Amino acid sequence: MAVRTRFPPSPTGFLHIGGARTALFNWLYTRRHKGRMVLRIEDTDRERSTEESVQAIFEGLEWLTLDYDEGPYYQTRRMNRYAEVIRQLLDSGWAYRCYCTKEELEAMREQQRAEGIKTRYDGRCRERLQPEPGVDPVVRFKNPRDGCVVIDDLIRGRIVIGNNELDDLIIARSDGSPTYNLTVVVDDIDMEISHVIRGDDHINNTPRQINIIKALEAPLPVYAHVPMILGPDGKRMSKRHGAVSVTEYREQGFLPHAVLNYLARLGWSHGDDELFSVEQLVNLFDIDAVHRNPAVFDPEKLLWVNYEHIKAMPVGELKEHARFHFEKAGIDIDAQPHWREIIDVNRERSKTLVELVDRSRFFCQDVLDYDPEAMKKHVRGNAGDILLRLRDRFSELEPWAANAIHAQVHAVAGEFDVGLGKVAQPIRVAVTGAAVSPPIDETLAILGREKTVERLERLLEHLKTDPAQASATQPRGS
Ligand code: GLU
Repeated sequence: MAVRTRFPPSPTGFLHIGGARTALFNWLYTRRHKGRMVLRIEDTDRERSTEESVQAIFEGLEWLTLDYDEGPYYQTRRMNRYAEVIRQLLDSGWAYRCYCTKEELEAMREQQRAEGIKTRYDGRCRERLQPEPGVDPVVRFKNPRDGCVVIDDLIRGRIVIGNNELDDLIIARSDGSPTYNLTVVVDDIDMEISHVIRGDDHINNTPRQINIIKALEAPLPVYAHVPMILGPDGKRMSKRHGAVSVTEYREQGFLPHAVLNYLARLGWSHGDDELFSVEQLVNLFDIDAVHRNPAVFDPEKLLWVNYEHIKAMPVGELKEHARFHFEKAGIDIDAQPHWREIIDVNRERSKTLVELVDRSRFFCQDVLDYDPEAMKKHVRGNAGDILLRLRDRFSELEPWAANAIHAQVHAVAGEFDVGLGKVAQPIRVAVTGAAVSPPIDETLAILGREKTVERLERLLEHLKTDPAQASATQPRGS
């Protein structure tokens, strides 16, 4: 059987983590089995669907590099087809018009409650032959009364539901518009969907959909209901637990493949492995290995996965992903002759691309301010003399390379009879504006002699004009 899957979001909001994982599982299954995936926009709820959400869904899928083979189809453009199928069901006796008024339905439920039975539509209009004047009827599906529906779910195993638990669901509202269960069934049939992989919040719909498919004498797809995602507090994943939309993760500096890697592990595993490339996921993923229990979203682990991907990615590729964040920081990374070194020296310490850019900033932009804390802590005592000495040595240092810089820093520490920190930290303040950088020798080697000397001089100038730091420029012993 050719594998044909679908991802059918309702455009009532962003592509969130749960939706993205459903899309991913469909995508991986499709790619693994060389099938085709359909994108279908389920926009029949005209009040809640927005064009903005449609665009956000496209954007989210694109960022995650989840492509599709057919579509996007829009349900609102298929209304004639749904009307046709509703007519077909009416003609074949599988559906009927229901004229019950609100009051009548309420009275029916009242009675059922009084009798202590489950409230449900009792099918009374099945026998009603005359229209009720003044009432626009809904159309109900005539669910079989006997027997049961068997779902051989790829994840949950066999599920059996008695037909006596299902009532005659509405397939067309009184204004003629089709309901979700009808549109999904018609689309899944017309689009020849072989595998329905979706969140288990839809599991109650499945037996109803199966009965409609059978009534239409169409082949049944295979179902796989993916367990939900819980937040770290054990409650259903929601906005409270993190970013609302997947593109928000882009803003926060996540790599799309790290997010995919993490999402794949939310409910699926392969031994104890945690890190996968997309190619590996495509080769290894299968629905049978999806867990039956809910997955717990762990933001710390997502960060760790991102960090590992940042460390492992070829530097050129990493630059392309980071470009968005460099641009936001006003940095033209391509204009940096040492962009490779800048990225390489910082990536080991960066959990996100935002952090990577933040750590890279001083390499690319002038230092305009000094962190007062760092100044107070590190630029005092004879720091001014030390910086002056370094400026002189660095101006003549040949070659300008990490080991030669390292040797000079040691030599100056020896000459002043101070620990290395007393030399390295003032340099850091001078070249970064604060007290954090990669190892100072590597940092200066990448930064270059010119910028290093310039920044040492600038801090020395600053010390002269800053009375709070006056002591730092006073000659030793005075
Ligand atoms: N449009 C539905 C949703 O976003 C999905 C329906 C389905 O997968 O059958 O929840």
